[in-house]
Amino acid sequence: MSIDRFGRNIDYLRISLTDKCNLRCVYCMPEDITFRPRAELLQDEEIDRLVHVFAELGFHKFRLTGGEPTVRANVVDIVGRIARTPGVKTVAMTTNGLMLNKLAQPLAEAGLQRVNVSIDTLDPEKFKKVTRWGQVEDVWAGIDAAETAGLGVKLNAVVVRNYNDKEDVVDLARLTLYQPWQVRFIEMMPFGDVADFQQAGIVSQEALMATITAALGPLTDVHDGCLDGEAQIYQLEDALGMIGFISSVTQPFCASCTRARLTADGRLRLCLLREKEVDLMTPLRNGASNDQLKAIIEEGIWWKPWGHKLGEEVIPLNRVMSEIGG
Ligand code: SAM
Ligand code: SF4
Repeated sequence: MSIDRFGRNIDYLRISLTDKCNLRCVYCMPEDITFRPRAELLQDEEIDRLVHVFAELGFHKFRLTGGEPTVRANVVDIVGRIARTPGVKTVAMTTNGLMLNKLAQPLAEAGLQRVNVSIDTLDPEKFKKVTRWGQVEDVWAGIDAAETAGLGVKLNAVVVRNYNDKEDVVDLARLTLYQPWQVRFIEMMPFGDVADFQQAGIVSQEALMATITAALGPLTDVHDGCLDGEAQIYQLEDALGMIGFISSVTQPFCASCTRARLTADGRLRLCLLREKEVDLMTPLRNGASNDQLKAIIEEGIWWKPWGHKLGEEVIPLNRVMSEIGG
């Protein structure tokens, strides 16, 4: 077990497979972003090795993210090896869905169990605007393919003021009436260069719930205020699916946080919203043993921070979201 100094058992690792992406969502990365050279990223065998080490430390839930994880070469093989690692119980992925049409079936066969697909609006024009060139039909084709392949599907929408916080939120929430999906509304988080835009665009959960309730009727709290992972879960009357709210900035869920992140360049990021990281790449490439790597990880986990400091204007500037893996 990996326990931090607050007694939290950290057993969930999100791995950013790449900082690269086939979209450029406005709240995530600048259009002219420069990606890291391939040699600076964890290589396949380095990921395998770290997954073994983390699994031996009691981590059993792994989520692959990015950047866009499906643009990583060999993603299917990587998933297969993670799924076969002793101690690993769950392998999930967060993706923009564009490549799922082609990859959902092989990923499911390799051992992937669930996908969270990002879709901020059902409106093709707005989708193109926020992603800078994406086609929403491609995401739908990916969602269909994921369902056909037997993957569990959740939908993620980042809400941005004056962009998708009204009718788009209602359209997305309406999907849960007919589909057994969890549609999750994510509060925008400030990072790096785009922090001002992000902070200006935050929409409160209260405002979103009011918009949904006015259009679609009352929302019932499904877990009596308890979190499902990081989300507060509600349901519309007679709905097949659920609606989740992830409000990391205004309602942080630090007490129930069980996660750590591995960045594409091999740093252990202990909190999404804090800059503190532990370098695993250097010891890995300098020949550290598994026991030495474990000791470095355990020490890092022990110092996992509690709470963000956005209220004190301390914004994580060292990376944009796509480098950390949301
Ligand atoms: N490319 C994949 C995708 O879009 O799902 C995986 C990586 S993306 C960084 C992971 C999640 O973070 C997505 O749901 C995305 O919408 C969300 N995200 C990106 N930038 C964000 C921000 N500034 N605040 C909150 N969520 C953000
Ligand atoms: Fe790419 Fe995902 Fe970031 Fe959009 S949110 S630019 S799809 S990494």
